[in-house]
Amino acid sequence: HLNGRTAIVTGSTSGIGLACARVLAGAGASVVLNGFGDADAIETIRVELAAASGGVALYDPADMTDPDQIAAMVERAVAETGSCDIVVNNAGIQHVAPVDRFPTDRWDAILAINLSSAFHVMRAAVPHMRGTGWGRIISTGSAHSLVASPNKSAYVAAKHGLAGLTKTVALEVARDGITVNMISPGYVWTPLVEAQIPDTMAARGMTRDQVMDDVLLAAQPTKRFVTPEEVAALALFLCQDEAGSITGANLSVDGGWTAA
Ligand code: NAD
Repeated sequence: HLNGRTAIVTGSTSGIGLACARVLAGAGASVVLNGFGDADAIETIRVELAAASGGVALYDPADMTDPDQIAAMVERAVAETGSCDIVVNNAGIQHVAPVDRFPTDRWDAILAINLSSAFHVMRAAVPHMRGTGWGRIISTGSAHSLVASPNKSAYVAAKHGLAGLTKTVALEVARDGITVNMISPGYVWTPLVEAQIPDTMAARGMTRDQVMDDVLLAAQPTKRFVTPEEVAALALFLCQDEAGSITGANLSVDGGWTAA
């Protein structure tokens, strides 16, 4: 149902973003892949998505800390595919440390990638969506857009900020055929989660198993990790015309975490 549409998915070389790119391409959209990683692995993904899609698949290496590269990525998508109809603001990083030992460069990087990049993408994409009278803006939030955990000051601040940005832009474009929503997963088993286990072990003086059971899955009543595909399925639903009245929402996919 997305034939003729173009979707930009930031941070789509891995994890949740890759799952979103796959379902959007599978529904017929042209896709702009973005993110870091091994060049051959990215090209393999691009070819796979191009084959699945009714359109084309591009890779754009824009660094989500750089507003000029972000704007150029959006303009390139329009120039090479004809439009920019769907954006998934998904790129994100994590750093785990208590506030008094939180490296200031990690604070700046997390605010830039997890929050400001979504602003820069929206700023560039909204005029194109207004031009066609249809658009879908989806941001990957987190349970940490609603609740906090210790040792994640930058991440929790950025995700709470992204929640506010989502609501604000939703109001601004409400009459333009554009919806703006956030999907807030609980713990999803991806490289981002795997990478924070050693720092959480150090910060809390725990073993690996203790971090898995007492920190990660402790918060999630379902006692299992959310899958990237479960998040992507909701993103795809938000792109349907039937989802046109869902806007400004923060939709939890967190195994009951924020219900507790
Ligand atoms: P991941 O590490 O698998 O993927 C992150 C992606 O972002 C990669 O493609 C990476 O290359 C890209 N990226 C990182 N820095 C970038 C930069 N400067 N410019 C461009 N791309 C960059 O992680 P994931 O778990 O799939 O996370 C995706 C999103 O989901 C993030 O916003 C994260 O906060 C959010 N999230 C993850 C979980 C979880 O448990 N994994 C839970 C809630 C929310």
